[in-house]
Amino acid sequence: MKEDLLQKVTALSKRRGIIYPNSEIYGGIAGFYDYGPVGVEMKNNLKRYWWKYMVDKRENVVGIDGTIITHPKVWEASGHLSGFSDVVVECKKCHQRFRPEDINGKCPNCGGTEFTDSRKYNLLFKTEVGVLEGEKIDAYLRGEACQNIYLDFKNVVDSTRQQIPFGIAQIGKAFRNEVTPNRFTFRTREFEQWDMQFFVHPTEMDKWFEYWKEERMKFYKGLYRKHDNLRFYEHPKDKLVFYAKKAFDIEYMTPWGWAENEGIHWRGDYDLTQHGKFSGKDLSYTDLKTNEKYIPHIVETSGGVDRTFLFLLLDSYEEEKLENGDMRVVLKINKDIAAYKAAVFPLVSNKEEIVSKARDIFNLLSENNKVVWDNRGNIGKRYRYQDEIGTPYCITIDYETLENDTVTVRDRDSMKQERVKIEDLNSAIN
Ligand code: ATP
Repeated sequence: MKEDLLQKVTALSKRRGIIYPNSEIYGGIAGFYDYGPVGVEMKNNLKRYWWKYMVDKRENVVGIDGTIITHPKVWEASGHLSGFSDVVVECKKCHQRFRPEDINGKCPNCGGTEFTDSRKYNLLFKTEVGVLEGEKIDAYLRGEACQNIYLDFKNVVDSTRQQIPFGIAQIGKAFRNEVTPNRFTFRTREFEQWDMQFFVHPTEMDKWFEYWKEERMKFYKGLYRKHDNLRFYEHPKDKLVFYAKKAFDIEYMTPWGWAENEGIHWRGDYDLTQHGKFSGKDLSYTDLKTNEKYIPHIVETSGGVDRTFLFLLLDSYEEEKLENGDMRVVLKINKDIAAYKAAVFPLVSNKEEIVSKARDIFNLLSENNKVVWDNRGNIGKRYRYQDEIGTPYCITIDYETLENDTVTVRDRDSMKQERVKIEDLNSAIN
């Protein structure tokens, strides 16, 4: 199961409207994916889940939503124009390209053992801003979302009540012209990141680094089911960038091994210093109590939304043998992330009173919950479908409902059914 789990999740995603390959009718384009009707609900829930944890529940973190294209100088200051590259080697036999860490001396495609010297490719997507010749400037789609946070740091200080220590959070698209997009949505060319930059006094870096490291692990433990599949990976000292004292990744155990989910980075005063230098603006902060003026230091937490989504699918996919010998596929996905809280089924579609009672229940529940309607085919098939997309509860309106205002509520994981009064439904599914 482990080896083909990724293929199974990919097939399920297509079959049930979670994720589709982009531009499929034209043969697809490597590294780009669309979220379908079920997937978009899940992904929105996932982003809300992060926002709630990182912003809503904290008095000292605020959000922004920045643009994808920024002033091109940003990417000079950040070092991306000169240093943001993928190192790639090419197999001399089949001419496929790989990252050196993926080959282990042997071509994963054809088994060849001879490779070209490694080459570097810049990952930034280039575009133009402006229409008139002579006025056009080269610009770049952001290679990481967090730069907007540094750009807006001073605006946030000047326009809100926040004082250091505080954080700025953002969820947004990033673009990387990856040389080897692979493993479904694990490595794509257009993806979303969830970032938080926490601004602190330099003497408090250790404390806040440890705090966010633990907080972020707590977040992922709340999200996934299989906690043994989570670990910290500490970057070796000799691999750290010059301004970092330490760096940790939160990794998830995928079918192809441990893989990065999120990075917790010690950015020191690097980013604000660089942008101060390149823009000529003073990005220092003055403490209101002590009057001390300094460049704040930063602890960054930077994770991938699409990558987390993929890991969630891997984490929740199960195949179970039923008593009658059939197999069921069930997505035991976190109930806060499931596309729908519940599915509403009229037992039969040709009995007017049952259908209209079911509609009333659908309308009632959809005031406060995302629910889905299905009156097609037999109940068993409807259960199988909802299991595959991870809907936690299925509510069936039947003949007995007309007599005593109760419905059956069936639980996704235990498959147990119980009769519930209509008036108690809201709390039964929440
Ligand atoms: P990797 O080593 O996997 O290329 P990275 O170290 O370059 O990742 P960061 O720049 O730290 O990644 O980005 C933060 C997060 O963004 C990563 O932890 C990952 O979840 C996500 N991410 C980065 N690149 C991609 C990509 N090409 N496709 C999907 N998600 C990505």
